[in-house]
Amino acid sequence: MQLNDTGLLQTQGYINGQWHAGNSNTQFDVINPANGECLAQVAEMAAEETRQAIAAAEQALPAWRTKTAKERSAILEKWYELMMAAQEDLAVLMTAEQGKPLFESRGEVAYGASFLKWFAEEGKRVYGDIIPQTNDRRGLVLKQPVGVVAAITPWNFPNAMITRKVAPALAVGCTVVLKPAAETPLSALAIVELGRRAGLPAGVFNVVTGTDAPAIGGEMTSSPIVRKLTFTGSTPIGKLLMKQCADTVKRTSMELGGNAPVIIFDDADLDRAVDGAILAKYRNSGQTCICSNRMLVQAGIYDAFVEKFAAKVREFRVGDGLDAATTHGPLITTKAVQGVHDKVQQAFAEGATVVVGGKPGSQGEHFYEPTILTNVNSSMRVFREEIFGPVAPVFRFETEQEAIAMANDTEFGLAAYVYTNDLGRIFRVSEAIEYGMVGVNEAALSSEVIPFGGVKESGQGREGSRYGLDDFLETKYICLGGM
Ligand code: ADP
Repeated sequence: MQLNDTGLLQTQGYINGQWHAGNSNTQFDVINPANGECLAQVAEMAAEETRQAIAAAEQALPAWRTKTAKERSAILEKWYELMMAAQEDLAVLMTAEQGKPLFESRGEVAYGASFLKWFAEEGKRVYGDIIPQTNDRRGLVLKQPVGVVAAITPWNFPNAMITRKVAPALAVGCTVVLKPAAETPLSALAIVELGRRAGLPAGVFNVVTGTDAPAIGGEMTSSPIVRKLTFTGSTPIGKLLMKQCADTVKRTSMELGGNAPVIIFDDADLDRAVDGAILAKYRNSGQTCICSNRMLVQAGIYDAFVEKFAAKVREFRVGDGLDAATTHGPLITTKAVQGVHDKVQQAFAEGATVVVGGKPGSQGEHFYEPTILTNVNSSMRVFREEIFGPVAPVFRFETEQEAIAMANDTEFGLAAYVYTNDLGRIFRVSEAIEYGMVGVNEAALSSEVIPFGGVKESGQGREGSRYGLDDFLETKYICLGGM
Protein backbone atom coordinates (compact mmCIF):
# COMPACT_ATOMS: atom_id res chain seq x y z
CA MET A 1 0.00 0.00 0.00
CA GLN A 2 1.68 3.17 -1.27
CA LEU A 3 0.37 6.57 -0.15
CA ASN A 4 1.53 9.95 -1.48
CA ASP A 5 0.70 11.54 1.85
CA THR A 6 1.97 9.14 4.51
CA GLY A 7 0.42 11.35 7.22
CA LEU A 8 -2.93 9.84 6.27
CA LEU A 9 -1.94 6.46 7.69
CA GLN A 10 -2.80 6.87 11.37
CA THR A 11 -2.98 4.00 13.83
CA GLN A 12 -4.12 5.60 17.09
CA GLY A 13 -7.51 6.72 18.32
CA TYR A 14 -8.26 10.44 18.58
CA ILE A 15 -9.51 12.05 21.79
CA ASN A 16 -9.70 15.75 22.64
CA GLY A 17 -7.57 16.76 19.66
CA GLN A 18 -4.78 14.29 20.45
CA TRP A 19 -3.80 10.94 18.96
CA HIS A 20 -4.21 8.38 21.69
CA ALA A 21 -2.45 5.00 21.91
CA GLY A 22 -5.09 3.50 24.20
CA ASN A 23 -4.77 3.02 27.95
CA SER A 24 -3.66 -0.62 27.65
CA ASN A 25 -1.14 0.25 24.94
CA THR A 26 -2.12 -2.84 22.93
CA GLN A 27 -3.07 -3.06 19.27
CA PHE A 28 -5.22 -5.07 16.91
CA ASP A 29 -4.40 -6.08 13.34
CA VAL A 30 -6.04 -4.59 10.27
CA ILE A 31 -6.12 -7.23 7.53
CA ASN A 32 -6.16 -6.81 3.75
CA PRO A 33 -9.01 -9.16 2.74
CA ALA A 34 -7.55 -9.70 -0.74
CA ASN A 35 -4.44 -11.46 0.56
CA GLY A 36 -4.71 -11.81 4.34
CA GLU A 37 -1.72 -9.52 4.98
CA CYS A 38 -1.61 -7.32 8.06
CA LEU A 39 -1.76 -3.69 6.90
CA ALA A 40 -1.35 -1.96 10.24
CA GLN A 41 -1.78 -2.34 13.96
CA VAL A 42 -4.29 0.01 15.52
CA ALA A 43 -4.81 1.12 19.13
CA GLU A 44 -7.05 -1.20 21.12
CA MET A 45 -9.44 0.96 23.14
CA ALA A 46 -12.50 0.07 25.17
CA ALA A 47 -14.85 1.48 27.83
CA GLU A 48 -12.37 3.73 29.65
CA GLU A 49 -11.22 5.53 26.49
CA THR A 50 -14.85 5.84 25.38
CA ARG A 51 -15.59 7.62 28.65
CA GLN A 52 -12.65 9.96 28.06
CA ALA A 53 -13.85 10.68 24.53
CA ILE A 54 -17.39 11.40 25.74
CA ALA A 55 -16.00 13.77 28.39
CA ALA A 56 -13.96 15.56 25.70
CA ALA A 57 -17.03 15.88 23.48
CA GLU A 58 -19.03 17.27 26.40
CA GLN A 59 -16.33 19.80 27.20
CA ALA A 60 -16.09 20.94 23.57
CA LEU A 61 -19.86 21.27 23.12
CA PRO A 62 -20.55 24.79 24.53
CA ALA A 63 -17.98 26.53 22.34
CA TRP A 64 -18.86 24.51 19.23
CA ARG A 65 -22.61 24.97 19.47
CA THR A 66 -22.30 28.71 19.99
CA LYS A 67 -20.15 29.24 16.92
CA THR A 68 -22.15 30.61 14.02
CA ALA A 69 -23.30 28.08 11.45
CA LYS A 70 -21.10 29.95 9.00
CA GLU A 71 -18.00 29.37 11.12
CA ARG A 72 -18.72 25.64 11.39
CA SER A 73 -19.52 25.54 7.70
CA ALA A 74 -16.12 27.01 6.79
CA ILE A 75 -14.36 24.11 8.54
CA LEU A 76 -16.56 21.51 6.84
CA GLU A 77 -15.92 23.13 3.44
CA LYS A 78 -12.18 23.02 4.02
CA TRP A 79 -12.46 19.39 5.14
CA TYR A 80 -14.34 18.60 1.92
CA GLU A 81 -11.59 20.16 -0.16
CA LEU A 82 -8.84 18.31 1.68
CA MET A 83 -10.75 15.05 1.25
CA MET A 84 -11.15 15.52 -2.49
CA ALA A 85 -7.47 16.49 -2.81
CA ALA A 86 -6.59 13.23 -1.02
CA GLN A 87 -9.09 11.15 -3.01
CA GLU A 88 -6.52 8.78 -4.49
CA ASP A 89 -4.76 8.04 -1.19
CA LEU A 90 -8.06 7.55 0.63
CA ALA A 91 -9.20 5.19 -2.14
CA VAL A 92 -6.01 3.11 -1.92
CA LEU A 93 -6.35 2.91 1.86
CA MET A 94 -9.99 1.88 1.55
CA THR A 95 -9.39 -0.81 -1.05
CA ALA A 96 -6.51 -2.20 1.01
CA GLU A 97 -8.58 -2.61 4.18
CA GLN A 98 -12.05 -3.19 2.73
CA GLY A 99 -11.41 -4.96 -0.58
CA LYS A 100 -13.66 -3.08 -3.00
CA PRO A 101 -12.10 -2.29 -6.40
CA LEU A 102 -10.28 1.02 -6.66
CA PHE A 103 -12.84 2.64 -8.95
CA GLU A 104 -15.54 1.96 -6.34
CA SER A 105 -13.31 3.33 -3.57
CA ARG A 106 -12.66 6.53 -5.54
CA GLY A 107 -16.43 6.84 -5.98
CA GLU A 108 -17.05 6.30 -2.29
CA VAL A 109 -14.51 8.96 -1.29
CA ALA A 110 -16.26 11.50 -3.54
CA TYR A 111 -19.64 10.35 -2.17
CA GLY A 112 -18.34 10.60 1.41
CA ALA A 113 -16.85 14.04 0.81
CA SER A 114 -20.13 15.24 -0.73
CA PHE A 115 -21.82 15.01 2.68
CA LEU A 116 -19.27 17.43 4.14
CA LYS A 117 -20.01 19.97 1.44
CA TRP A 118 -23.77 19.42 1.45
CA PHE A 119 -24.13 19.83 5.21
CA ALA A 120 -21.69 22.75 5.26
CA GLU A 121 -24.30 24.47 3.11
CA GLU A 122 -27.46 22.99 4.64
CA GLY A 123 -26.33 23.64 8.25
CA LYS A 124 -26.78 27.37 7.58
CA ARG A 125 -30.49 26.86 6.91
CA VAL A 126 -31.81 25.63 10.25
CA TYR A 127 -34.88 27.81 10.64
CA GLY A 128 -37.49 28.09 13.38
CA ASP A 129 -41.09 29.30 13.49
CA ILE A 130 -43.25 31.90 15.17
CA ILE A 131 -46.67 30.54 16.13
CA PRO A 132 -49.58 32.99 16.39
CA GLN A 133 -51.38 32.51 19.70
CA THR A 134 -53.68 34.66 21.86
CA ASN A 135 -53.32 38.44 22.04
CA ASP A 136 -50.75 38.62 24.82
CA ARG A 137 -48.54 35.69 23.92
CA ARG A 138 -46.44 34.40 21.04
CA GLY A 139 -44.87 30.99 20.54
CA LEU A 140 -41.33 30.64 19.25
CA VAL A 141 -40.00 27.36 17.92
CA LEU A 142 -36.23 26.92 17.89
CA LYS A 143 -34.13 24.08 16.54
CA GLN A 144 -31.16 23.28 18.74
CA PRO A 145 -28.37 20.69 18.48
CA VAL A 146 -29.16 17.53 20.45
CA GLY A 147 -25.73 17.66 22.13
CA VAL A 148 -23.11 14.93 22.33
CA VAL A 149 -23.68 12.32 19.61
CA ALA A 150 -22.30 8.77 19.54
CA ALA A 151 -21.88 7.16 16.12
CA ILE A 152 -21.20 3.51 15.29
CA THR A 153 -20.37 2.64 11.69
CA PRO A 154 -19.82 -0.53 9.61
CA TRP A 155 -16.97 -1.70 7.38
CA ASN A 156 -18.77 -1.84 4.03
CA PHE A 157 -18.60 1.94 3.41
CA PRO A 158 -15.67 2.92 5.64
CA ASN A 159 -15.74 6.57 4.55
CA ALA A 160 -19.27 7.60 3.56
CA MET A 161 -21.08 6.04 6.51
CA ILE A 162 -18.95 8.26 8.76
CA THR A 163 -19.34 11.57 6.92
CA ARG A 164 -23.06 11.00 6.42
CA LYS A 165 -23.47 11.05 10.22
CA VAL A 166 -20.67 13.32 11.35
CA ALA A 167 -21.20 16.14 8.82
CA PRO A 168 -24.83 16.93 9.77
CA ALA A 169 -24.09 16.48 13.48
CA LEU A 170 -21.18 18.91 13.41
CA ALA A 171 -22.90 21.32 11.02
CA VAL A 172 -25.72 21.99 13.48
CA GLY A 173 -23.43 22.25 16.51
CA CYS A 174 -23.30 18.76 18.03
CA THR A 175 -20.01 17.12 19.03
CA VAL A 176 -19.28 13.49 18.17
CA VAL A 177 -17.68 10.31 19.46
CA LEU A 178 -17.28 7.74 16.67
CA LYS A 179 -16.60 4.02 16.83
CA PRO A 180 -15.64 2.82 13.34
CA ALA A 181 -15.75 -0.89 12.48
CA ALA A 182 -12.61 -2.68 13.62
CA GLU A 183 -12.18 -4.16 10.13
CA THR A 184 -11.75 -0.68 8.58
CA PRO A 185 -10.36 1.83 11.07
CA LEU A 186 -7.72 3.26 8.72
CA SER A 187 -10.22 5.10 6.52
CA ALA A 188 -11.82 6.58 9.64
CA LEU A 189 -8.49 7.75 11.05
CA ALA A 190 -7.50 9.33 7.72
CA ILE A 191 -10.79 11.26 7.78
CA VAL A 192 -9.92 12.48 11.29
CA GLU A 193 -6.47 13.58 10.17
CA LEU A 194 -8.04 15.65 7.39
CA GLY A 195 -10.58 17.11 9.83
CA ARG A 196 -7.74 18.08 12.14
CA ARG A 197 -5.97 19.82 9.24
CA ALA A 198 -9.22 21.56 8.33
CA GLY A 199 -9.30 23.15 11.77
CA LEU A 200 -11.75 21.12 13.87
CA PRO A 201 -11.29 22.26 17.48
CA ALA A 202 -10.18 19.71 20.11
CA GLY A 203 -12.95 17.44 21.39
CA VAL A 204 -15.43 18.22 18.62
CA PHE A 205 -14.81 14.93 16.81
CA ASN A 206 -13.33 11.98 18.70
CA VAL A 207 -12.64 8.45 17.48
CA VAL A 208 -12.42 5.34 19.64
CA THR A 209 -10.84 2.35 17.88
CA GLY A 210 -11.12 -1.17 19.21
CA THR A 211 -12.39 -4.69 18.76
CA ASP A 212 -14.49 -4.87 21.93
CA ALA A 213 -17.62 -3.39 20.36
CA PRO A 214 -19.92 -4.34 23.27
CA ALA A 215 -17.67 -2.47 25.73
CA ILE A 216 -17.48 0.67 23.58
CA GLY A 217 -21.16 0.49 22.62
CA GLY A 218 -22.15 -0.21 26.24
CA GLU A 219 -20.38 2.94 27.40
CA MET A 220 -21.89 5.04 24.63
CA THR A 221 -25.43 3.84 25.25
CA SER A 222 -25.34 3.99 29.07
CA SER A 223 -23.75 7.44 29.31
CA PRO A 224 -26.27 10.14 30.27
CA ILE A 225 -24.01 12.67 28.54
CA VAL A 226 -24.61 11.11 25.12
CA ARG A 227 -27.99 12.36 23.92
CA LYS A 228 -28.18 10.55 20.64
CA LEU A 229 -26.89 7.36 19.03
CA THR A 230 -26.64 7.06 15.26
CA PHE A 231 -25.89 3.56 14.01
CA THR A 232 -25.41 1.82 10.69
CA GLY A 233 -25.08 -1.95 10.79
CA SER A 234 -27.01 -5.15 11.17
CA THR A 235 -30.60 -5.35 12.41
CA PRO A 236 -29.80 -7.57 15.45
CA ILE A 237 -27.14 -5.15 16.73
CA GLY A 238 -29.42 -2.19 15.97
CA LYS A 239 -32.17 -3.74 18.09
CA LEU A 240 -29.73 -4.43 20.90
CA LEU A 241 -28.47 -0.83 20.85
CA MET A 242 -32.03 0.56 20.83
CA LYS A 243 -32.77 -1.49 23.94
CA GLN A 244 -29.59 -0.25 25.59
CA CYS A 245 -30.53 3.36 24.73
CA ALA A 246 -33.93 3.00 26.36
CA ASP A 247 -32.55 3.38 29.87
CA THR A 248 -31.43 6.95 29.21
CA VAL A 249 -34.19 7.63 26.65
CA LYS A 250 -31.63 8.48 24.01
CA ARG A 251 -32.69 9.44 20.56
CA THR A 252 -31.58 6.94 17.95
CA SER A 253 -31.14 6.80 14.19
CA MET A 254 -30.82 3.31 12.76
CA GLU A 255 -29.70 2.30 9.27
CA LEU A 256 -30.10 -1.46 9.43
CA GLY A 257 -30.31 -4.46 7.15
CA GLY A 258 -32.22 -4.76 3.91
CA ASN A 259 -33.74 -7.41 1.68
CA ALA A 260 -34.11 -5.39 -1.50
CA PRO A 261 -36.18 -6.73 -4.36
CA VAL A 262 -35.50 -5.81 -7.98
CA ILE A 263 -38.93 -6.18 -9.61
CA ILE A 264 -38.70 -6.55 -13.37
CA PHE A 265 -41.93 -6.53 -15.37
CA ASP A 266 -42.48 -7.93 -18.86
CA ASP A 267 -42.79 -4.40 -20.24
CA ALA A 268 -39.40 -3.26 -18.89
CA ASP A 269 -36.46 -2.16 -21.02
CA LEU A 270 -34.58 -5.45 -20.66
CA ASP A 271 -31.06 -4.10 -21.17
CA ARG A 272 -31.62 -1.32 -18.66
CA ALA A 273 -33.03 -3.82 -16.19
CA VAL A 274 -30.04 -6.13 -16.61
CA ASP A 275 -27.58 -3.27 -16.11
CA GLY A 276 -29.51 -2.10 -13.06
CA ALA A 277 -29.66 -5.60 -11.60
CA ILE A 278 -25.91 -6.01 -12.07
CA LEU A 279 -25.18 -2.75 -10.27
CA ALA A 280 -27.76 -3.25 -7.55
CA LYS A 281 -26.61 -6.79 -6.82
CA TYR A 282 -22.87 -6.96 -7.28
CA ARG A 283 -21.54 -3.56 -6.17
CA ASN A 284 -18.98 -4.08 -3.40
CA SER A 285 -19.43 -7.81 -4.13
CA GLY A 286 -22.94 -7.68 -2.74
CA GLN A 287 -21.93 -6.12 0.57
CA THR A 288 -24.13 -3.02 0.69
CA CYS A 289 -27.33 -2.58 2.66
CA ILE A 290 -29.21 -1.50 -0.46
CA CYS A 291 -27.85 -4.37 -2.56
CA SER A 292 -30.66 -6.23 -4.21
CA ASN A 293 -31.21 -9.52 -2.43
CA ARG A 294 -33.98 -10.90 -4.61
CA MET A 295 -34.52 -10.62 -8.35
CA LEU A 296 -38.27 -10.86 -8.96
CA VAL A 297 -38.84 -11.31 -12.69
CA GLN A 298 -42.17 -11.62 -14.52
CA ALA A 299 -42.68 -14.92 -16.34
CA GLY A 300 -42.77 -13.48 -19.88
CA ILE A 301 -39.28 -11.95 -19.62
CA TYR A 302 -37.74 -14.43 -17.16
CA ASP A 303 -35.65 -16.61 -19.49
CA ALA A 304 -34.38 -13.68 -21.54
CA PHE A 305 -33.42 -11.85 -18.36
CA VAL A 306 -31.50 -14.79 -16.89
CA GLU A 307 -29.59 -15.29 -20.13
CA LYS A 308 -28.46 -11.66 -20.46
CA PHE A 309 -27.82 -11.30 -16.73
CA ALA A 310 -25.63 -14.41 -16.67
CA ALA A 311 -23.68 -13.28 -19.75
CA LYS A 312 -22.73 -10.05 -17.93
CA VAL A 313 -21.80 -11.83 -14.71
CA ARG A 314 -19.46 -14.14 -16.64
CA GLU A 315 -17.52 -11.05 -17.75
CA PHE A 316 -16.62 -10.05 -14.16
CA ARG A 317 -12.94 -9.97 -13.25
CA VAL A 318 -12.72 -11.03 -9.61
CA GLY A 319 -9.49 -10.28 -7.75
CA ASP A 320 -7.47 -7.88 -5.63
CA GLY A 321 -9.19 -4.49 -5.72
CA LEU A 322 -5.84 -2.73 -6.11
CA ASP A 323 -5.38 -4.43 -9.51
CA ALA A 324 -6.77 -2.02 -12.12
CA ALA A 325 -8.41 -4.85 -14.08
CA THR A 326 -10.48 -6.03 -11.11
CA THR A 327 -14.22 -5.42 -11.30
CA HIS A 328 -15.16 -7.30 -8.12
CA GLY A 329 -13.14 -7.79 -4.94
CA PRO A 330 -13.13 -10.17 -1.98
CA LEU A 331 -15.61 -10.43 0.88
CA ILE A 332 -14.58 -8.87 4.16
CA THR A 333 -13.83 -12.02 6.20
CA THR A 334 -13.74 -15.80 5.86
CA LYS A 335 -16.78 -15.83 8.16
CA ALA A 336 -18.63 -13.76 5.56
CA VAL A 337 -17.67 -16.26 2.84
CA GLN A 338 -18.94 -19.14 4.96
CA GLY A 339 -22.19 -17.32 5.73
CA VAL A 340 -22.87 -16.77 2.02
CA HIS A 341 -21.97 -20.34 1.15
CA ASP A 342 -24.26 -21.74 3.85
CA LYS A 343 -27.22 -19.93 2.31
CA VAL A 344 -26.34 -21.14 -1.19
CA GLN A 345 -25.97 -24.73 -0.02
CA GLN A 346 -29.30 -24.58 1.75
CA ALA A 347 -30.87 -23.38 -1.52
CA PHE A 348 -29.21 -26.24 -3.41
CA ALA A 349 -30.50 -28.74 -0.87
CA GLU A 350 -34.03 -27.45 -1.52
CA GLY A 351 -33.75 -27.68 -5.29
CA ALA A 352 -32.10 -24.49 -6.54
CA THR A 353 -30.17 -24.61 -9.80
CA VAL A 354 -26.87 -22.81 -10.31
CA VAL A 355 -26.51 -20.76 -13.50
CA VAL A 356 -23.13 -19.20 -12.65
CA GLY A 357 -20.78 -19.63 -9.66
CA GLY A 358 -22.14 -21.29 -6.54
CA LYS A 359 -18.97 -21.80 -4.51
CA PRO A 360 -16.05 -20.02 -2.78
CA GLY A 361 -13.63 -18.39 -5.22
CA SER A 362 -10.18 -19.68 -6.16
CA GLN A 363 -8.45 -16.29 -5.67
CA GLY A 364 -8.05 -16.64 -1.91
CA GLU A 365 -9.95 -17.54 1.21
CA HIS A 366 -11.98 -14.30 1.25
CA PHE A 367 -13.44 -14.74 -2.23
CA TYR A 368 -16.82 -16.02 -3.40
CA GLU A 369 -17.77 -16.61 -7.02
CA PRO A 370 -20.38 -14.23 -8.45
CA THR A 371 -23.43 -16.48 -8.44
CA ILE A 372 -26.87 -16.72 -10.03
CA LEU A 373 -29.48 -19.20 -8.80
CA THR A 374 -32.78 -20.21 -10.40
CA ASN A 375 -35.52 -22.63 -9.26
CA VAL A 376 -35.63 -20.75 -5.99
CA ASN A 377 -38.63 -20.16 -3.73
CA SER A 378 -39.73 -17.98 -0.86
CA SER A 379 -39.04 -20.51 1.88
CA MET A 380 -35.31 -20.46 1.16
CA ARG A 381 -32.87 -18.41 3.23
CA VAL A 382 -31.80 -16.54 0.07
CA PHE A 383 -35.34 -15.11 -0.04
CA ARG A 384 -35.76 -14.40 3.66
CA GLU A 385 -32.32 -13.26 4.84
CA GLU A 386 -29.89 -10.57 3.79
CA ILE A 387 -27.26 -12.43 1.70
CA PHE A 388 -24.53 -9.74 1.85
CA GLY A 389 -22.53 -11.44 -0.88
CA PRO A 390 -22.41 -11.82 -4.67
CA VAL A 391 -25.36 -14.22 -4.98
CA ALA A 392 -28.46 -13.41 -7.04
CA PRO A 393 -31.48 -15.70 -6.67
CA VAL A 394 -33.93 -15.07 -9.54
CA PHE A 395 -37.58 -15.64 -8.58
CA ARG A 396 -40.47 -15.85 -11.04
CA PHE A 397 -43.83 -14.11 -10.69
CA GLU A 398 -46.95 -13.84 -12.85
CA THR A 399 -48.98 -10.78 -11.78
CA GLU A 400 -48.36 -7.31 -10.39
CA GLN A 401 -50.21 -8.23 -7.19
CA GLU A 402 -48.00 -11.26 -6.72
CA ALA A 403 -44.84 -9.15 -7.21
CA ILE A 404 -46.01 -6.62 -4.61
CA ALA A 405 -46.83 -9.39 -2.14
CA MET A 406 -43.43 -11.03 -2.65
CA ALA A 407 -41.63 -7.69 -2.28
CA ASN A 408 -43.43 -7.03 1.02
CA ASP A 409 -42.98 -10.56 2.36
CA THR A 410 -40.07 -9.60 4.61
CA GLU A 411 -39.47 -7.78 7.88
CA PHE A 412 -37.07 -5.44 6.05
CA GLY A 413 -37.87 -2.26 4.11
CA LEU A 414 -34.81 -0.32 3.00
CA ALA A 415 -34.43 -0.08 -0.81
CA ALA A 416 -36.39 -1.60 -3.70
CA TYR A 417 -36.01 -1.34 -7.45
CA VAL A 418 -38.76 -1.48 -10.07
CA TYR A 419 -38.29 -1.85 -13.82
CA THR A 420 -41.34 -1.10 -15.98
CA ASN A 421 -42.33 1.35 -18.69
CA ASP A 422 -45.98 1.57 -17.64
CA LEU A 423 -46.57 4.89 -15.88
CA GLY A 424 -49.62 3.70 -13.96
CA ARG A 425 -47.72 0.66 -12.74
CA ILE A 426 -44.79 2.83 -11.64
CA PHE A 427 -47.08 4.69 -9.25
CA ARG A 428 -49.13 1.67 -8.16
CA VAL A 429 -46.12 -0.47 -7.33
CA SER A 430 -43.91 2.28 -5.84
CA GLU A 431 -46.71 3.28 -3.50
CA ALA A 432 -47.70 -0.28 -2.54
CA ILE A 433 -44.30 -1.61 -1.59
CA GLU A 434 -43.14 -0.97 1.97
CA TYR A 435 -39.69 0.49 1.45
CA GLY A 436 -37.98 3.73 2.42
CA MET A 437 -36.43 4.15 -1.05
CA VAL A 438 -37.59 3.00 -4.48
CA GLY A 439 -35.45 3.17 -7.62
CA VAL A 440 -37.69 3.20 -10.70
CA ASN A 441 -35.70 2.20 -13.78
CA GLU A 442 -32.65 3.30 -11.78
CA ALA A 443 -30.26 1.38 -9.56
CA ALA A 444 -27.86 4.14 -8.48
CA LEU A 445 -30.30 5.85 -6.16
CA SER A 446 -28.15 7.30 -3.41
CA SER A 447 -26.47 10.69 -3.19
CA GLU A 448 -26.05 13.43 -0.61
CA VAL A 449 -29.20 15.25 -1.77
CA ILE A 450 -31.70 12.45 -1.08
CA PRO A 451 -33.16 11.12 2.21
CA PHE A 452 -31.57 7.70 2.72
CA GLY A 453 -33.28 5.35 5.13
CA GLY A 454 -35.63 2.48 5.72
CA VAL A 455 -38.94 1.42 7.23
CA LYS A 456 -39.96 -1.67 9.24
CA GLU A 457 -36.90 -3.45 10.67
CA SER A 458 -34.57 -1.63 8.30
CA GLY A 459 -34.47 1.30 10.65
CA GLN A 460 -35.59 4.81 11.43
CA GLY A 461 -34.36 8.29 10.62
CA ARG A 462 -33.01 9.66 7.36
CA GLU A 463 -29.47 10.55 6.31
CA GLY A 464 -28.45 13.05 3.64
CA SER A 465 -30.69 15.74 2.14
CA ARG A 466 -32.31 18.52 4.17
CA TYR A 467 -34.10 15.84 6.21
CA GLY A 468 -30.73 14.56 7.41
CA LEU A 469 -30.40 17.55 9.75
CA ASP A 470 -33.58 16.67 11.68
CA ASP A 471 -31.99 13.67 13.38
CA PHE A 472 -29.48 15.95 15.11
CA LEU A 473 -31.87 18.72 16.16
CA GLU A 474 -34.24 19.13 19.07
CA THR A 475 -37.37 21.26 18.77
CA LYS A 476 -37.73 23.79 21.57
CA TYR A 477 -40.85 25.85 22.21
CA ILE A 478 -40.57 29.21 23.95
CA CYS A 479 -43.76 30.90 25.10
CA LEU A 480 -43.54 34.70 25.20
CA GLY A 481 -46.21 36.11 27.46
CA GLY A 482 -47.34 39.56 28.59
CA MET A 483 -46.94 41.12 25.17
P1 ADP B 1 -21.74 -6.38 10.30
O1 ADP B 1 -22.30 -7.76 10.39
O2 ADP B 1 -21.99 -5.69 9.03
O3 ADP B 1 -20.35 -6.26 10.81
P2 ADP B 1 -22.61 -5.26 12.79
O4 ADP B 1 -23.95 -4.72 13.13
O5 ADP B 1 -22.10 -6.42 13.56
O6 ADP B 1 -22.68 -5.55 11.25
O7 ADP B 1 -21.51 -4.12 12.88
C1 ADP B 1 -21.73 -2.76 12.60
C2 ADP B 1 -21.01 -1.93 13.64
O8 ADP B 1 -21.55 -2.26 14.92
C3 ADP B 1 -19.52 -2.21 13.74
O9 ADP B 1 -18.84 -0.99 14.05
C4 ADP B 1 -19.44 -3.17 14.91
O10 ADP B 1 -18.19 -3.15 15.56
C5 ADP B 1 -20.51 -2.59 15.80
N1 ADP B 1 -21.02 -3.52 16.82
C6 ADP B 1 -21.16 -4.85 16.75
N2 ADP B 1 -21.64 -5.34 17.90
C7 ADP B 1 -21.84 -4.28 18.74
C8 ADP B 1 -22.31 -4.12 20.09
N3 ADP B 1 -22.71 -5.16 20.81
N4 ADP B 1 -22.35 -2.87 20.59
C9 ADP B 1 -21.96 -1.81 19.87
N5 ADP B 1 -21.50 -1.90 18.61
C10 ADP B 1 -21.44 -3.11 18.05
